[in-house]
Amino acid sequence: MRFKTCLKVNLSKLKENYLHLRELSPTNKILFVIKSNAYGHGIVPIVRFAVKELNIDSFGCASLGEAIFLRTSLPDLEFDLYVLSDFEFENKYNHQHLINKRIIPVISSIKSLKLILESSFCKHIPLCLKFDTGMSRLGIKLSELTETISLLKQHKKTTLFHIMSHFASSSSEITSSSAPYKQYERFKEIKKTLIENGFIIERSSIANSGAIEQKFALEETHIRPGLLLYGLSSLNKEFRLKQKTEQSWPGENISSLETHIIDFYKIKEGDAVGYGGPLAHKDGTLVYLAYGYGDGLLNLYNQLQVEHKGFVGKVIGRISMDMTALLFPTEAFEYLTVGEKIIIWDHSPSKILKIADTHNIIPYEILCGISDRVPRVYIIS
Ligand SMILES: *Cc1c(COP(=O)(O)O)cnc(C)c1O
Repeated sequence: MRFKTCLKVNLSKLKENYLHLRELSPTNKILFVIKSNAYGHGIVPIVRFAVKELNIDSFGCASLGEAIFLRTSLPDLEFDLYVLSDFEFENKYNHQHLINKRIIPVISSIKSLKLILESSFCKHIPLCLKFDTGMSRLGIKLSELTETISLLKQHKKTTLFHIMSHFASSSSEITSSSAPYKQYERFKEIKKTLIENGFIIERSSIANSGAIEQKFALEETHIRPGLLLYGLSSLNKEFRLKQKTEQSWPGENISSLETHIIDFYKIKEGDAVGYGGPLAHKDGTLVYLAYGYGDGLLNLYNQLQVEHKGFVGKVIGRISMDMTALLFPTEAFEYLTVGEKIIIWDHSPSKILKIADTHNIIPYEILCGISDRVPRVYIIS
C-alpha cells in the first residue's frame, strides 16, 4: 500500500455526472455498470454513494464473486444486482448464492436457461435474458429464439424480468447504415416476437455509454452506463476529433491520479538511465515518481508525459515496478522538491483520454489497470 500515491475519487463529481446523464436521458432508469471494481474506482464506496445519494437502484457487475462481495459489504442497502457475464452456474454450490444474495444472473445461452429452469432451487429467479444481436459475444442467438420461446412456455414462464443486448461498436458514429443501428433493429424484432408470443417484458435495455452519448436506443426502460458516469466519453478518437470536442457532454473525470517525487537530479546526455541503461538523449533533470508497473503503470505507457509547474517531463528508460523516471528540462531542477505532488491526470477528461489516445488503448483499460497498491481516497467537495 502507498500513502501519497493515490487515486482520488471525488464523489461530488459522480453526482454531477449523474445529473448530466439525467439531461441526456431523462426518462430511462439506470442500471449502473460497476464491474471490475467499479472501473477501478472501488466498488463498495461507489455503490454506497450511488444508492444513498443518487437513488440508483440497479447495478451490474461481471462475476458472481464481485456480486457476493458487494452484497456482503453492503448488507443493509436495497438494490438490484445483475451479474452480466460470469455467474458460474455449472457449480451447484453457487446456486444458493444467487438466491441468498438476491443476485440476478444475466442468462446468455440456451444451456444456462435450461439449467436455471430445471433447477428446483433457482426456478423462481427473475429471468433476465441477453440476446446476441450481432456482436458474436455472449447472448442467445437469433436462430435460437423459437427454441427459447418454447422452453419458456414449457416451464410456464410468461414474465421476463429484463431482456437486453449489447452494442459492439457504439463508440463510433451511429448512422442508419451502421452496425448498432442494425443491432437495435434486431433487438426490437426480438422484443416484438416475445410480446406476440404473450410474454410480459418488465424491463429492457441495450444502450451503453457510447449509445447514450449519441442519444441512441433510449426507448427502452433502462440504460446501462459505465464509463460515462465515471466521467469519460467512450467515443473513439476519430469520432471525438471529428466532433472537435473531447466530450459530447459536459461530465468530468471523477478521479485524479496523484503521485510524488522520490528523488531528482541533473543528468547529462549519454548517461545511462535505469534497468538496461538506455542513454539519455539530452541533458535534463531526472525525476523519479513513486509510481511504477506494480501500481499499474505498465511499460506500455512509455510515451507518458506529465506537466508540472509549466514543464513537461517524459518517461525515459524502462518503467520499474515501484518507480518511473521522467526527463524534465534542466531548468526544472530549481523548482522541484522531494515529496512534492505530481498529478498524472486530473478531473479534466482530456488528460486521461490523451494518455489513452497516445498509447492506442481505451480509458477503460487505464482505469481497470490501477493496482491494489494504490489507495482509493474518497472526497466530497
Ligand atoms: C460493460 C458493460 C456495459 C457498460 O459499458 P460502458 O461502455 O462502460 O457504458 C453495459 N452493458 C454490459 C452488458 C456491459 O458488459
